[in-house]
Amino acid sequence: MPKKKKFETDAIRTQTAASEQREHSVPVYMTSSFTFESAEHARALFANEQEGNVYSRYSNPNTDEFISKMCKLEGAEAGVATASGMAAIFVTLAGLLKQGDHILASRSLFGSSHQILSQILPRWGISFTYADIHNPESWEAQIRPNTKLLFLETPSNPGLDLIDLQWAGKLAKAHNLIYVVDNCFATPYLQRPIEFGADLVQHSATKFIDGQGRAIGGVIVGREKFIEELRFFARHSGPAMSPFNAWLFSKSLETLPVRMDRHCDNAEIIADFLGNHKQVHFVKYPFHKDHPQNKLARKQMMRGGGVVCFEIKGSFEKAKTFIDNIELLSRSANLGDTRTIVTHPASTTHSKLSDKEREAVGITLGLIRIAVGLENSEDIIRDIEQALSF
Ligand SMILES: *Cc1c(COP(=O)(O)O)cnc(C)c1O
Repeated sequence: MPKKKKFETDAIRTQTAASEQREHSVPVYMTSSFTFESAEHARALFANEQEGNVYSRYSNPNTDEFISKMCKLEGAEAGVATASGMAAIFVTLAGLLKQGDHILASRSLFGSSHQILSQILPRWGISFTYADIHNPESWEAQIRPNTKLLFLETPSNPGLDLIDLQWAGKLAKAHNLIYVVDNCFATPYLQRPIEFGADLVQHSATKFIDGQGRAIGGVIVGREKFIEELRFFARHSGPAMSPFNAWLFSKSLETLPVRMDRHCDNAEIIADFLGNHKQVHFVKYPFHKDHPQNKLARKQMMRGGGVVCFEIKGSFEKAKTFIDNIELLSRSANLGDTRTIVTHPASTTHSKLSDKEREAVGITLGLIRIAVGLENSEDIIRDIEQALSF
């Protein structure tokens, strides 16, 4: 058996075979369909007796390359690429569940995931319960006979709270739940949920996978038996990733380890700076000494990731002043970009939640999220420092 390659090598060398042009860098296969060698070849492809491309809604060399690479990096058997991170989440939930099923979900989820659970799936009789991430002992009692799936996100957005992936894996196994993790914040370079028992791992490729703020995309990887169902659902409902975006994401993955290390270097420096600042009530970063789950972070993550959050002492007004004072960094709602982005979650990404729901996940009016980019950390700190001088 060939020796297993290291992460960095797989991120670069997992590549579609060269065409007759002997190109070194994989081209973009912008084609909607593929031709058949004969009537028999066409029949065999449609009957799934033979593997091969038919139509780019089903498969394409660029999306296949991106999926294979993600599978290697996450340690997964198979995967599906989608047009966005939300499509990945929707395909997973709608593709695996049916009327009458119930989802147990951690309360700290991405804003649109809340909307899918609370506004969209209930139309088809699929219900959910939120589990309190600060109170893991309470989860088991919330599992019902019709609970089919456990859905969580760690580290959470924007609060950077963690869930013990191994513990959740045992819970899912004991109750025969499909265990799904949104691994967008950590990326497979820093955390591989499948090693802790996850059945499926999802990503918004829009974030650190692209890493340069250029394209929207998503991916689900995990156990073949579930992916097979999702492949069917996606093939016929049509949320395919474009070959061009797949090409971008696959190229971006080549530099994922290098970029993530620099995101983490910068984030550590910024978390330390904020932790000592007089206008800052608290800073939260998984590998910062003051994070209450620091030990768990070091158990399941290789490093702390590229997002830091902190609370400004005082009111919404102070948080607004900070955001308005920013000169170099970007005011935006995205994350995982080369450019550092500052966000006020309570009034933007999480504004659709009620005050009570926000309170339950620690999104106070003074909370700021910094999606730390790859600029020189001294320049990032200089801008944060001047924006905090009030
Ligand atoms: C951005 C994000 C999503 C949604 O992804 P899109 O690509 O924007 O559809 C889902 N989960 C998390 C944690 C995210 O940050």
